[in-house]
Amino acid sequence: KDFRNKVKPNWCPGCGDFSVQAALQRAAANVGLEPEDLAVVAGIGCSGRISGYINANGFHGVHGRALPIAQGLKLANRDLTVVAAGGDGDGFAIGLGHTLHAIRRNIDLTYIVMDNHIYGLTKGQTSPRSQVGFKTKSTPDGQIESPIAILEAALTAGATFVAQSFSSDLKGLTSLIEQGMKHKGFALINVFSPCVTYNKVNTYDWYKENLTDLSSIEGYDPHNRLQAMQVLMEHNGLVTGLIYQDLDKPAYEDQLKGFKKEPLAHQSIHISEEKFNDLVHEFM
Ligand code: SF4
Repeated sequence: KDFRNKVKPNWCPGCGDFSVQAALQRAAANVGLEPEDLAVVAGIGCSGRISGYINANGFHGVHGRALPIAQGLKLANRDLTVVAAGGDGDGFAIGLGHTLHAIRRNIDLTYIVMDNHIYGLTKGQTSPRSQVGFKTKSTPDGQIESPIAILEAALTAGATFVAQSFSSDLKGLTSLIEQGMKHKGFALINVFSPCVTYNKVNTYDWYKENLTDLSSIEGYDPHNRLQAMQVLMEHNGLVTGLIYQDLDKPAYEDQLKGFKKEPLAHQSIHISEEKFNDLVHEFM
């Protein structure tokens, strides 16, 4: 099971996205997938290129729209393990509506966000995750808008799996992606993935100094949503590990009547009117 392909990433040397690529490849192998079992759907941005750098089914979509495609894919073929991926601009600006609705819908897929607090592909503009005071080409006097507290937003939207990691922690990131893939529902994994070219503030060293690993917090219970919210607010969102998991809420597709039949993608397109009507009723 080799999820590496021969395509050489054109990310800048040192970009945090290399670790995410490696972690995703290892996690897929560790959970026992074959390349044909995995689909990676990406949006636009430096990180969006990841779908071409994994030996699996890949789809590089349009800006902010990885999740609608990933959800459609999962509903059409629930036998696939579906991973959506992109950056913080892709998922938390233009794609924010899709992100929050996917979270509350809870279709079984894993969404990995490579969060570098900047737009790298377009050469360095402020993103919705940039800190107040952050100076970029688009905010030469410093950012004055508050960054979006996306993990808190995910919890209030009804998330069933919320985790956060850091590109330097390959082992921890791989483990969280494995847990996300095994989770029966929507898994959000935000990864601090430094942009070494355009973000000179949120560097590897900055994260090492500012992140708190949840394993160091005594008595932390990732099944307690209130405690998850509290710890995020106390640490300004700068925690790593499994923040919250709801093991009880069923996935969207498990609540659809008749959905346990053969996946749509495996059914013949030459079907009787009666079978067609059955399918339509299945999704009503
Ligand atoms: Fe990575 Fe930044 Fe380079 Fe893009 S510009 S590849 S995010 S280091």
